[in-house]
Amino acid sequence: MIAAPSGGGKSSLLQALMQRRPGLEFSVSYTTRGPRPHEQDGREYHFIDREEFERLIAAGEFIEHAEVFGNLYGTRRRVVEAALAAGRDLILDIDWQGARQVRERLPEAVQVFILPPSRAELERRLRGRGTDSEAAIARRLAESTVEMSHWRDFDYVIVNQDFDQALQELEAVFDGRGEASRSDRAGLAGLAGSLLRT
Ligand code: 5GP
Repeated sequence: MIAAPSGGGKSSLLQALMQRRPGLEFSVSYTTRGPRPHEQDGREYHFIDREEFERLIAAGEFIEHAEVFGNLYGTRRRVVEAALAAGRDLILDIDWQGARQVRERLPEAVQVFILPPSRAELERRLRGRGTDSEAAIARRLAESTVEMSHWRDFDYVIVNQDFDQALQELEAVFDGRGEASRSDRAGLAGLAGSLLRT
């Protein structure tokens, strides 16, 4: 399971990981947010309305769900159960609130957090999308800070300074060789502190 603040570079890292590891399955989440250009229903997300989402919550169909940026997001229980039953590795791209629920329900899941290398770089990446207004960027930055404050709850933390290096570290974690990326390693708290200082 992977979490990261928006701008941490999680999506690109995950895409690269999946290309290199064709056996990995991506859990397609359900969301009430509208599709962005180039997003396809059933590929990036299953796009549903709030009413349908709330019906699925009431029916116990989500193994975790959370509200992020004013929209609901959730992981369908049956997707996780099917992968577990078949012994397939499943990637969940979820936020810290969802990660906390998964930690309780599936303690064996490996939890990885991706951090940006600096606050300046985080801001640059958030701006780099080029589609959002200043207000939206400021909000994402604030939300990213909240997200980053939960880094200690994860088993592994990868600092995405150099893409190829970060990808190698992610692959090492998947192969059970992630010792160097453990979240309790020396030096990481200093970087996290500087990322959280606003
Ligand atoms: P975006 O709308 O930019 O695709 O995603 C916004 C945030 O929602 C990201 O941090 C992403 O990881 C998170 N997210 C996506 N799917 C899920 C999900 O199923 N559950 C939870 N808890 N968060 C999700």
